[in-house]
Amino acid sequence: MKKVIVVGAGIGGLACGALLARYGFDVEVLERSTFIGGRCSSTAGDGFVIDNFIHAFSMGSRGALGRVAGELGEDLRFVSRDPSATVIDGYRGRMKRFPQRLDMRPQWTRIRTALDIGVGIRGLAGGHRLFRDLMRADDPFIEERDRQALSEFLLEYSDDPQLLRWFGTICFLLLVLPPEEASAGEFIYCFREMFRCADFGYVRGSTGAIPGAYRRGLEKFGGTVRLGCPVEEILSDGGEVRGVLAGGEVRSADIVVSNAGIASTVRLVGERALGSDYAEWARSLTFSYGGAIVRYVLDEQVLDVPFVLYIADVQDQAKHEAFLKEGGLPEDVGIFMPVIDRCDPDLVPPGKQLLIAGTLAPASGGYAKTKELLDMVEVRLFSLFPGIERHVVRRMDVAPCEIGAASGNGERADIVGLAQSPGQVGADKPSPVMPVEGLYLVGTDAGARGVGTEQAAASAEVVARLVRQGYGAPGTIGRRPVQAWRDLL
Ligand SMILES: Cc1cc2nc3c(=O)[nH]c(=O)nc-3n(C[C@H](O)[C@H](O)[C@H](O)COP(=O)(O)OP(=O)(O)OC[C@H]3O[C@@H](n4cnc5c(N)ncnc54)[C@H](O)[C@@H]3O)c2cc1C
Repeated sequence: MKKVIVVGAGIGGLACGALLARYGFDVEVLERSTFIGGRCSSTAGDGFVIDNFIHAFSMGSRGALGRVAGELGEDLRFVSRDPSATVIDGYRGRMKRFPQRLDMRPQWTRIRTALDIGVGIRGLAGGHRLFRDLMRADDPFIEERDRQALSEFLLEYSDDPQLLRWFGTICFLLLVLPPEEASAGEFIYCFREMFRCADFGYVRGSTGAIPGAYRRGLEKFGGTVRLGCPVEEILSDGGEVRGVLAGGEVRSADIVVSNAGIASTVRLVGERALGSDYAEWARSLTFSYGGAIVRYVLDEQVLDVPFVLYIADVQDQAKHEAFLKEGGLPEDVGIFMPVIDRCDPDLVPPGKQLLIAGTLAPASGGYAKTKELLDMVEVRLFSLFPGIERHVVRRMDVAPCEIGAASGNGERADIVGLAQSPGQVGADKPSPVMPVEGLYLVGTDAGARGVGTEQAAASAEVVARLVRQGYGAPGTIGRRPVQAWRDLL
């Protein structure tokens, strides 16, 4: 039985480890933290189960997260509510509830949606065409636009400022990037899949239920997880992986799958083994932006919607986004807020309400303005829902540095992982087959498309398939071009 060591128990690592255990490999997952799930994790206490960060799932049970659980025979239930999201447009001061199944196929729905978001008469034809093309996009249409910026793609349809504001917001929600930095192809894929699946929502049992289901699957098929076990080095010899060094002890393996992210993996393997060209290229890659979160416990169930989205009241989008690079504070804060008890009442004590409000922040663990930024979120929230301040019994802040701590990336507090920007997606995305035989990269930095957790799970499916087929295994890379792995899928 071939021995596989997986470095990291994030969604990518656990899903891949569990699938490989199911395929008959002897799998051991080594995780540096004392909990599983990385950025997609939660903590239980005082009658609450609280997400460590903030999550919604764009494809629900119909995406890779659900597929992996199904393959493992594990029960993982996604929940969606109708209406699904209440969107408040700060600039126009309008509130709109969006239904769970917004079917964009009929022409009238596309026009009505453009009208609802405030597109002017001059922009309507372009808005309608845009929605139509997004829903009809096939894979070649997406691939042709992988190297184009989303901002440029949108301008082919319309320069209507409301259309651009709304798509800017959706782009931040799906890719955590502004449209100028996002790949049009990747955005189109995520948007198309979200509407095709029509299953946007939350997961029963909180976000931690996903890694929990994968861990159960792993253990059911004989795999193990060791927590509090940081991998210090990935060992290789003569271009082949040999195992890892963890806790000062050498652990041998035929195959190593790293979920530590491409930058950390390069450090763990070392430039000598990977080659200086590869290491230099890996260092040139960019990552998504970060976020800050404030959670409120209310003494009553005041809000009756599962998700709230507030679009910041700003007109100059580029000026507004500058704080993400330069630090400081924005003019207004966009807010995404799951109302947890409305998504899953079992996660909150009866009668109480749990709000998790997230906003964008620089992807630097050292961002010094977290408290002020979250105070801005609070002022905005209390103005949107007058009177809720009287019900707040507890406030809990989450700073960007906690994201870096959960992913193991330290000072780099990116929400997603690798930025889904032109030059880093589709055919340009890092290969999960690394240039050391028997070494693979899994998670958001390699091998798949999609929104955060969903691409981590999709990457796990890809890597598990490659390992099972022996692609990239010891003794094979010299004969197979690393990029050709895509032909197998
Ligand atoms: C604030 C926030 C909001 C988000 N919102 C959403 C959302 O709404 N929808 C969505 O789909 N996604 C969302 N995401 C993104 C999503 O959570 C991540 O993209 C995804 O979970 C990344 O999974 P991963 O497996 O690639 O990596 P990670 O979750 O980063 O897991 C990597 C794991 O490897 C471990 N590790 C690292 N180095 C070592 C080492 N040397 N030895 C041992 N272990 C190591 C880490 O401790 C960690 O457990 C959000 C993330 C955040 C932070």
